Amino acid sequence: MKPGIKDLCYCGSQRPFGECCEPFLLGAALPVSAEELMRSRYSAYVTRNVPYILETTSPKYRKYYNPKAILEWASNSTWISLEILSSSEKRVQFVATYLDEKGQLTHHKEDSRFEKIGERWYFMDGK
Ligand SMILES: [Zn+2]
Repeated sequence: MKPGIKDLCYCGSQRPFGECCEPFLLGAALPVSAEELMRSRYSAYVTRNVPYILETTSPKYRKYYNPKAILEWASNSTWISLEILSSSEKRVQFVATYLDEKGQLTHHKEDSRFEKIGERWYFMDGK
């Protein structure tokens, strides 16, 4: 499942994983925009990187997330694609497509809000 350095990133950027989301997931670089953070969080779900998902959730909202539930959802889903519909400074609309635990094709459409604290972008909430 883990791509090589030259394989395209999970997030659909058409760029190599090693030059796209991987440095963020490894903590070697910080996303510079809400959209980059959103993309890296999608890649974190694909790679089941629960610590990254929690770390990039706004400190105010983090308490509502259960690491075990995130891991279960990430593991029981077969991630297919991410499509960014629109993005502005603090909002990203996207569709994540995956097979749920029953193998049902699911399109999860979300309008997410983000905030920047210091140098870091955080996911706030989505609907
Ligand atoms: Zn990426």
